[in-house]
Amino acid sequence: MNLETLAIHAGLDADPVGAIVPPIYLSTTYTRRADGEPPDGFVYARTDNPNRAALEARLAALEGGVVAATFGSGSAATMTVVQALAPGDHVVAPNDAYFNTAQLLRDLFAPWGLQATFVDMTDLDAVRTALRPTTRLVWVETPSNPLLRVTDIAGVVDVARGGGARVVVDNTWATPVLQRPLALGADIAMHSTTKYLGGHADVTGGALVAREDDDFFQRVRLIQRNGGAVPSPFDCWLLLRGISTLPLRVRAHTENAEKVVAFLSDHPKVEVVHYPGLAAHPQHAVAAGQMSGFGGMASIQVRGGRAAALRVAARVRLFTHATSLGGVESLIEHRQSIEGPATRTPDNLLRLSIGLEHPDDLIADLAQALEEA
Ligand SMILES: *Cc1c(COP(=O)(O)O)cnc(C)c1O
Repeated sequence: MNLETLAIHAGLDADPVGAIVPPIYLSTTYTRRADGEPPDGFVYARTDNPNRAALEARLAALEGGVVAATFGSGSAATMTVVQALAPGDHVVAPNDAYFNTAQLLRDLFAPWGLQATFVDMTDLDAVRTALRPTTRLVWVETPSNPLLRVTDIAGVVDVARGGGARVVVDNTWATPVLQRPLALGADIAMHSTTKYLGGHADVTGGALVAREDDDFFQRVRLIQRNGGAVPSPFDCWLLLRGISTLPLRVRAHTENAEKVVAFLSDHPKVEVVHYPGLAAHPQHAVAAGQMSGFGGMASIQVRGGRAAALRVAARVRLFTHATSLGGVESLIEHRQSIEGPATRTPDNLLRLSIGLEHPDDLIADLAQALEEA
């Protein structure tokens, strides 16, 4: 079946009373039959819940995986992958990974004995050189946050396989609508469902979708159920609702982004636009090869440095100066301010999450904000 159909139907069985929209199962516990077994496999809400099961089935279908595990945040999903490794294991991660991902690897898990090397993931030789006999995981994030650098997923898989490491791809920005990491050979696709999958800036969540229900995924499941960083039934319900329109929304975000990017690329106050759809983007060919569209995220560097960038963020009226992305409303953010002293983000960079407003209105807003920058 096609993605648009799966986004609406996958995970939902016929409801016993005919409800088209599934009920939210708030119950924390489930009646056992006379033989002591649970009637539908549900026992206790931390270990499983019908809303979560439906969400996981839908996510697995969208990513073309066989199993999914969902979490209370994208970061909890990331942390679960790392916790499924053993102390002393080595991880190769991108030097421009989502800030909190890098921080987890560097600061939280270093005392726990995890080794991590950060490389330019767009350089396959750098990935190969970073591999050690103890490398168990190569973490990919593409397009990356906030510079929208693009990593060749199949290329990294090839290199990692040679070294016996598994590959996890943070697919938050592209979504399964535009990019299918498992089909490109990756072992796990990771999501912050807080972003495009939820799509309305009203639910925090994370997910891991695996190509195989292997020993590693069994460990992921164990950490999910026993560690308990699980999404609430209502969170799962909101995510199922959001995902129904994911293919439509992502296409509309992408169309709007292309128009906004075309405007920004010609603007004298804009030093550079980072968007993988631009022919001048350094990994444009890789992006065109592995993505079916270039998405709703772009970053710009404003002429005049940090002060000019902050002036633009302060002057927008339709865009909101706020963190996060993937919702229907457009957001703009000075990333360096939120990333703190260890950041590698240029001080004149603004990240744009291009929403679903009319593109002419978005362009007019940026035009007036850049005017005085
Ligand atoms: C937001 C985000 C995360 C973290 O997800 P949370 O839901 O905020 O924990 C990870 N990776 C990327 C690319 C993100 O945008």
